[in-house]
Amino acid sequence: MRDLLITGSRLADGSSGDLGVSAGRFVDVADLTDPEYIDADGLLALPGLVDSHTHLREPGREDAETIATGTLAAARGGYTAVHAMANLQPVTDTAEAAEYLAGLAARTANAQVIVVGSVTKGLGGSELSEMGLMSRSAAGVRMFSDDGRCVADSLMMRRALTYAKTFDGVIAQHAQDPRLAGPGACCHESEISGRLGLPGWPAQAESTIIARDVELAQLSGGRLHVCHVSTAEGVDVIRWAKARGVNVSAEVTPHHLYLGTREVEGYDTTFKVNPPLRTDEHIEAVRAALADGTIDMVGTDHAPHARQDKDHPFDVALPGMLGLEQALAVVIEVMLNTGRLDWGGLVDRMSAAPARLTRSATQGRPIASGEPANLVLVDPSARAVVDRDSSASKSRNNPYHGRDLPDPVVATIWAGRITHRR
Ligand SMILES: [Zn+2]
Repeated sequence: MRDLLITGSRLADGSSGDLGVSAGRFVDVADLTDPEYIDADGLLALPGLVDSHTHLREPGREDAETIATGTLAAARGGYTAVHAMANLQPVTDTAEAAEYLAGLAARTANAQVIVVGSVTKGLGGSELSEMGLMSRSAAGVRMFSDDGRCVADSLMMRRALTYAKTFDGVIAQHAQDPRLAGPGACCHESEISGRLGLPGWPAQAESTIIARDVELAQLSGGRLHVCHVSTAEGVDVIRWAKARGVNVSAEVTPHHLYLGTREVEGYDTTFKVNPPLRTDEHIEAVRAALADGTIDMVGTDHAPHARQDKDHPFDVALPGMLGLEQALAVVIEVMLNTGRLDWGGLVDRMSAAPARLTRSATQGRPIASGEPANLVLVDPSARAVVDRDSSASKSRNNPYHGRDLPDPVVATIWAGRITHRR
């Protein structure tokens, strides 16, 4: 791996200076040997982004995504690490499964893959998975989630929080009351769902589970992370819980920051996602919450699906959309360009906070001599029309196709290695 000399870039705090990279770390430029030059004049150098919520589909659905393609999409989006959700085939619910996934990633990944274990065996909701063994395995699992499904049983959730606390694990909940938003629910419950004749998914199906879970986090002293918060009511509960000192963090997806319920009016299943796209009042609430820190981080919920799983009537198609390649673009558009966040705030929400979630020693770190060389070079003013066919992902369910958005990522460097360069 050749040394790198990156010239002309600025950091998020406005300071500038050439950056040296050697043996996977930032070093003083005087210590470089025969470096490869990267001209970064006019670009921002930010710590590599970290995704708190990624579906890689391998093992099990390699036709939709593999670790190699998903992490290449991540690299193109400026990410140097992703948390790989457990709803794989087989489910990541044992130490062996976690180590197998970590081993696959070590051979094929273009970003660090942080393995997420399931909370319950087979995502079945009725028996805890081997969380302790997974945490002590070579995969070093720190986060557990049945994402895709809600841990609906209160006692199961209490036990999971209590158990994970013993090794500083975090339980990441897909907050969806399975009765209020039943299996068919696929559109935000509103005037639009009524008009379209689609089963409604009310905001309260999210907020009631969050309310229960923050109470259980307080009761157990465990650590709770709320996946993809999408409602004003959910935000209110989290704000209340944080004010009381509950150990809770939360994420919002790029699509819930940017896209609304009206996108589904054409019944285009690209826009079917769980939780569903919401109305303007909710979009405003999650933007404000990300700005003020009530929502700690951005998590993409990157969810690739093969065409045959999307090519169905709206209520039957699988939910989920891509996110890794356009997440930074969306956050720049709705948070930076509107003055809600500055670059330092963006770095916190997209790198430092998600790295803290699983106590990463190598990700979300500042750009400084001696630190791991995880870096994204950003052109803050470039724009482009998104083309789903130019994606690194194996899937094409890209909700930003055809939209004019920032096109910020010029290069991504993971552990000193160039994983993407425009
Ligand atoms: Zn989910």
